[in-house]
Amino acid sequence: MPKKPRPKEGRSTDGALMHYSVGAVIKMGHRYLLLDRVNYPFGYAGPAGHIDEGENAVQALKREVKEETGLKVERWRLIFEEPVLWNKCSMGVSGHYWSLFECFVSGDVRLYEKEAKSIGWYTKEQIAKLDLEPVWKYWFEKLKII
Ligand SMILES: [Zn+2]
Repeated sequence: MPKKPRPKEGRSTDGALMHYSVGAVIKMGHRYLLLDRVNYPFGYAGPAGHIDEGENAVQALKREVKEETGLKVERWRLIFEEPVLWNKCSMGVSGHYWSLFECFVSGDVRLYEKEAKSIGWYTKEQIAKLDLEPVWKYWFEKLKII
């Protein structure tokens, strides 16, 4: 059986266990691609996930975008890279070191029911009213989108 991938681990400056995560901001015209997550942490979010052991950020980005949306990342640009110490995951780790990318994609959006209740394109005005996953509220505020 193939080994189950494990998130890449690190330590915060005060010694707490951290995982590494990537997120994708995908824009088409004036709309952003968000999915309503089936898994904890809940809420509307961009495609995102852990960087697995042995992967780099871009490999994880391409894999997560494909797994959650069906889209292929053609080009990317790093927007933010920072630790988010309050961003808890389903594995109980509360600190994540994030790399957030703007992505340019090809292909057609698909709904993967293991990942999301819905997937779609939202304007800034709509995003401001959505129940966002906390870390995505943080990114959209930081990007001055909401
Ligand atoms: Zn984690």
